[in-house]
This record gives sequence, C-alpha cells and structure tokens, in this order.
Amino acid sequence: MSASFFDLSGKTAVVTGCNTGLGQGMALGLAAAGCNIVAVNRRAPEETQRRVEALGVGFLAVDADLASTAPIDDILAQAEARFGGADILVNNAGIIRRADSLEFTEQDWDEVLDVNLKSLFFLSQAFARACIDGQRRGKIINIASMLSFQGGIRVPSYTASKSGVLGLTRLMANEWAARGINVNAIAPGYMATNNTEALRHDPERSREILGRIPAGRWGGPEDLAGAAVFLASSASDYVHGHTLAVDGGWLAR
Ligand code: NAD
Repeated sequence: MSASFFDLSGKTAVVTGCNTGLGQGMALGLAAAGCNIVAVNRRAPEETQRRVEALGVGFLAVDADLASTAPIDDILAQAEARFGGADILVNNAGIIRRADSLEFTEQDWDEVLDVNLKSLFFLSQAFARACIDGQRRGKIINIASMLSFQGGIRVPSYTASKSGVLGLTRLMANEWAARGINVNAIAPGYMATNNTEALRHDPERSREILGRIPAGRWGGPEDLAGAAVFLASSASDYVHGHTLAVDGGWLAR
C-alpha cells in the first residue's frame, strides 16, 4: 500500500468539538495529512487554529452549540462557501454527567443524549445528503467509547448515548455504504482529557483503570490521529460500520 492511500490533500473535514482534547488531536492528525479543517465549537478554537494553520492547510472556525440541531445547516453552508463542501465529518463533540443511577436527573439524561446522539445523527444526515446531492464520496467518523461495549458506572445517559453511537454507526453504514459514504466509529479507551478529569483525580478509580490497560498508560489526543486519518482516507474505502477501539488493549482484557 502506498503512502498516498493516506493522503488527504485537497479534502475538507468538519470536526466538532476540537478546541481541546481528542477533537484537537484528530484535527491535527487530519491536517498533517493535508486536510482543511472546519472547526465547530462553542468557544473560539484558538490553539487548534494556530497549530492547524502552521501545517499549511486551510482552517475555518464555525461557532455552534450542538445542544440543539439548529446550527447544523449553517455549519455545512459555511463549509461549502469556504471550501466547496466537506468530504469528511468527525462527530466528536460530547459531554458526560456522573451521578448514581438512583439519583440521576432527567436534565442530565436529556442534555447528554442531545449532544452525543441526536446532534450526531442529524449532522450526519445533513452531511450525507450534501455528499449525495454533490455526487461526492463521504467519510463519517463517529466517536464512540468503551461504554459502547461495556456498562460503566454512574454514567447512565453517557452509556446510553455511546451504545447508541455504535448502533447508529452500523445503521447509517447499512443505508449509505452503497451511496459512496463510509460510516465508521473510533472507540477511545481511557484518555487524559477534560472528560476523564474526575476519574484521574479519584486515586482508587485511577489506579484500577491504569492497572487494566495493557499498554500501561492512559491515552492522549495524539493517539487518535492515526485511526482518524485511516478512516478518513481511501485506505478505508471498503470499511463500513466498524467501531475501531483505540484503547491501549483495554477491551482485550
Ligand atoms: P473534552 O471535554 O476535552 O472535549 C469535548 C469537546 O466537545 C469539547 O471541544 C467541547 O467544547 C465539545 N462540546 C461539548 N458540548 C458541546 C456542544 N453543546 N456544542 C459544541 N461542542 C460541544 O473531552 P474529550 O475526551 O476530548 O471528548 C471528545 C469525545 O471523545 C467525546 O465525544 C467523548 O465522549 C469521547 N470520549 C472520550 C474519552 C476519554 O477518555 N477522554 C473516552 C471515550 C470517548
């Protein structure tokens, strides 16, 4: 296989929630492979912008709160106006709420499902329609979790959303594979970001988690770059509906 299988020059990726954490790591990986980045965030992604532009590709920041589906059309319209459309969508924006299931509130249920699952689906739908209308191939990469495979503890809405992401990844692949759109997911293991701050600061949970990771360390944003480039590139043209764990071996235990 030649290196050009992974070349994303001239392509454009919409990456949600990339001002920090795993989204930033994937945006930088895609940019290093030559891809322009449309960065969708609630806050200006200044550091991501500086680091992406230093790689010599185009960068567009779009302000959007994915707690609702309202901004979706505008995100794709801005990508179209600046870069002539998007070839890749990375549905990374996500939130988590922790509380015992006996105490869990409806608000913590709805807010997590709205960002992690509902906006992911409707942004994917709008992206797929644009690809089909524009007769372009498309690549959708959803961000799943270990809790797409496991139950977790004290995170009921998060587990429901991420288990849903795995199922929706398969459903969308089933419907859109023959239309030239690859839908796959990456399931990160335990990664050192804001999302896991509470776990890393709990000495007992943090020891338990680290003790189960065969790689012997927490992951970081840079660990997702290679999987994102693979699933965004022509190297994965016959990969559909798969959820790829990037977990230091966690699921192998
Ligand atoms: P993070 O909190 O650093 O990043 C989350 C990103 O989503 C941020 O950019 C945030 O601004 C954005 N976001 C949240 N709500 C939003 C909204 N309403 N509108 C727009 N953007 C919004 O944490 P992270 O770990 O980098 O998380 C990224 C993704 O990876 C999430 O989907 C998360 O569930 C998933 N994940 C993380 C881990 C981990 O161990 N850190 C493991 C598995 C999956």
